[in-house]
Amino acid sequence: MAEELSGRVAVVTGGAAGLGRATVERLLEDGARVVVADLDRDTGESLAEGCGPEVRFRQTDVAVAEQVQELVAFAVEEFGGLHLMVNNAGIAGVMHTSLLDEDFADFQRVLSVNLLGVMTGTQAAARHMVANGGGSIVNLSSIGGVQAGPSVLAYRASKAAVIHFTKCAALDLAAHDIRVNCIAPGGIPTRLLASATATAGPEAEEINKKIRAHMAATQPLGRLGTARDVAEAVTYLAGDRSLHVTGTVLTVDGGTTAGQKPLRPASAS
Ligand code: NAD
Repeated sequence: MAEELSGRVAVVTGGAAGLGRATVERLLEDGARVVVADLDRDTGESLAEGCGPEVRFRQTDVAVAEQVQELVAFAVEEFGGLHLMVNNAGIAGVMHTSLLDEDFADFQRVLSVNLLGVMTGTQAAARHMVANGGGSIVNLSSIGGVQAGPSVLAYRASKAAVIHFTKCAALDLAAHDIRVNCIAPGGIPTRLLASATATAGPEAEEINKKIRAHMAATQPLGRLGTARDVAEAVTYLAGDRSLHVTGTVLTVDGGTTAGQKPLRPASAS
């Protein structure tokens, strides 16, 4: 369906890189105008310049509620409205190999960006949408919020909370024609993965390799997911093809959270 989002205005937080950037590019293809919000001014500005007049950049720290409110006001001022809010910005935090080694030094920051940022982003967008005919809000969780696992425990806890918050907000806002959904991607090679392991010392590269090999081996579809895969899911939840979908968690994980991969001899596959 060409130009499905023509006339719609979107905000994508964390839109300068990774999954957010792929989402910005995908939304543009569907005819949306997009405000890219990110901490990273240089990358965000050059993305906006490269994309042309349908994209604006706004430097924003989603952990600061006032900045998130200003971001929504900026989108409305620049493009005359807001129909889609993608609360995508997130950080992994420091990776410790076990709970026994945790010092929780980054707990506040991880929760402030990953959870409070999503909550204030949802609230600020909804306050505009309530008075303007509704809209769609898409929050980025993770399979780390669906399925338990070791390490990056604050990250996993924040992503589980995003799922629960999304469902609560969907119920709260349904009467206003505001849909709130979340996406739980599986492991996708981006800076986020590198940032989690870069703090793990000299063995970081080795850990990175193991994580990639683990991702490919454990995903039933047997391929590494891409940022574009996630952007396609956001686009579906953004537009009218998902008009009856709210409060849901769409996993984009190659089947990882569906259950166990069958144990078959290689020749039988
Ligand atoms: P990334 O690190 O590649 O990009 C994240 C972007 O967010 C960067 O441009 C960064 O500058 C920006 N950002 C970070 N903190 C911010 C803040 N406080 N305010 C505004 N912008 C900020 O990460 P990614 O892999 O693209 O992840 C995007 C989202 O998807 C995150 O919420 C992440 O938890 C989630 N996710 C990613 C994966 C994966 O494997 N990559 C898996 C599951 C979920």
